[in-house]
Order: sequence, then C-alpha cells, then structure tokens
Amino acid sequence: MPRYEYRCRSCGDTFELNRPMAESGAPAACPAGHDDTVKLLSAVAVGGTATGPAPGSGGGGGGGCCGGGCCG
Ligand SMILES: [Zn+2]
Repeated sequence: MPRYEYRCRSCGDTFELNRPMAESGAPAACPAGHDDTVKLLSAVAVGGTATGPAPGSGGGGGGGCCGGGCCG
C-alpha cells in the first residue's frame, strides 16, 4: 500500500498515511484532528511517470527531523 505525505495547514504538522491509491485524494485529518490538510508530493513512486523533481514544488521545511515522528 503506497504511503502518502500530508501537511496540515492548521498546525503546520506533516504526517504520513498508508492508504489505497483510490483514496489518495481523499481528505486526511492530521494527528491533531485538523482536516485542513494538503497532500504532498513526496518520494512516492508508484506507477508514476514523473522522472524528476517538480520545480516550484515544496521548498522550506523539507526533510530534516519532522516526518519521522522524532519531533512530536
Ligand atoms: Zn493539524
């Protein structure tokens, strides 16, 4: 099951969910319960045709500690 990364626009937290591709666009509530979240295009490579990083996407807050659950 592919893993998707989301970012909460209410608290700024990022989190990951394992969910079927059919539900990849479904709303995902953050661990704090907010539902104002956006799906991030992370390192998910499942049947895609993208071959490189998309310019203009992301920027700021990429990688680092958050995302691994070590700063919660
Ligand atoms: Zn939140």
